[in-house]
Amino acid sequence: MNRRQMLYATGLGLVGGAVAKGAALPDSAQGAKHHAKALSLADYEPKSMLQVPVTQVDRARFPVIDIHTHISVSAKSKDGVALVPERQYLGAPEELLAIMDRKNIRSMVNLTGGYAAGLAQAVEKYDRAFRDRFYTFAEPSYSLFLKPDYPKLQAQAIEQAHRDGARGLKILKTLGLYLRENLTSGRLVKIDDPRFDPMWDTCGQLNMPVAIHVSDPVAFFTPTDRFNERYEELSNHPDWSFHGPEFPGNAELIEARNRVFARHPKTRFIALHVGNFSENLANVSENLDRFSNMHVDIAARIGELGRQPRTARAFFDKHQDRILFGTDATPHGDEFPQQVFNDKLYEIYYRFLETDDEYFDYAPAKTPPQGRWQIYGIHLPDSILRKVYNGNAARELHITI
Ligand SMILES: [Zn+2]
Repeated sequence: MNRRQMLYATGLGLVGGAVAKGAALPDSAQGAKHHAKALSLADYEPKSMLQVPVTQVDRARFPVIDIHTHISVSAKSKDGVALVPERQYLGAPEELLAIMDRKNIRSMVNLTGGYAAGLAQAVEKYDRAFRDRFYTFAEPSYSLFLKPDYPKLQAQAIEQAHRDGARGLKILKTLGLYLRENLTSGRLVKIDDPRFDPMWDTCGQLNMPVAIHVSDPVAFFTPTDRFNERYEELSNHPDWSFHGPEFPGNAELIEARNRVFARHPKTRFIALHVGNFSENLANVSENLDRFSNMHVDIAARIGELGRQPRTARAFFDKHQDRILFGTDATPHGDEFPQQVFNDKLYEIYYRFLETDDEYFDYAPAKTPPQGRWQIYGIHLPDSILRKVYNGNAARELHITI
């Protein structure tokens, strides 16, 4: 009996969202006398019967610097490439500050501050108006990419961004997966393309950390089929799949990133989302050992860390000086419950880091949005919590708490 036949025989026929409810049972299930109607996977919301302690953590134990948030986005982009400097703001500072104060968030780092005039405006509206509560990172000016002297222009743009108040540089997964020779057409531009070398070096010279998103969860590079552990997520967002010959693989992207780390030892990098390989912490750990200029944040990956709590705890013990607190929080990002900026999201992160609670949701959502599993707390001691919540970020941002 294969797995599907077994599910039918036990009365739990799960079918993909695309298949109509009550689909005909296969012949092999005819023998089962009492079977429930086939249930669409999208309608399945199992409630755990497990009775275990639940710790409510309303405030973080130490003031938090959230190194990974998105308060503004580009007002116009095409195929993943920002085309104009103008920003669209997702939450007013006062609205964000109310939640920050409740959750003991000292500062939010808005990674997507953009470039040129849009960046200067974002800094003005947030960083300068509410000192130490907001920090803004710049992004590359891909609109300059087609100019022959782009490498030099981009380095100068970073210098200008620094003068305008940017605290670091953010690289979206645009680089490696979207940016092409003619911006949105032509060959994909590689992460370690030498045209970016002056940009990386300038960041190092100006003490601006580079927050870099490379690749994506490994499952996004495999077919969206019944074996895919993120099947529902990819079904809901088909454009998140990078499976197919037109895209490089996860390993290839990470290797290109590593060549950048190696080539620019004086530039500090924060590899976002646990270096986008939290499915393989041994590999991330190996890279942290290899590159002393590499750090990671945990944004949108507590689902991964929390399903391997013992391995994750060892990872935090070993790399406690290199792990930064981040969430990927996006005000009003309701379609992405694993990163929506609200009280509940932070309470889950705090519970994961601070408690030894077992088997709980990693996102404020009806069903786990990044794969159907639950997580376990890793109960970090105060000495590590302090570093992860603010010490490591303060060091990299050159601020005192
Ligand atoms: Zn992000």
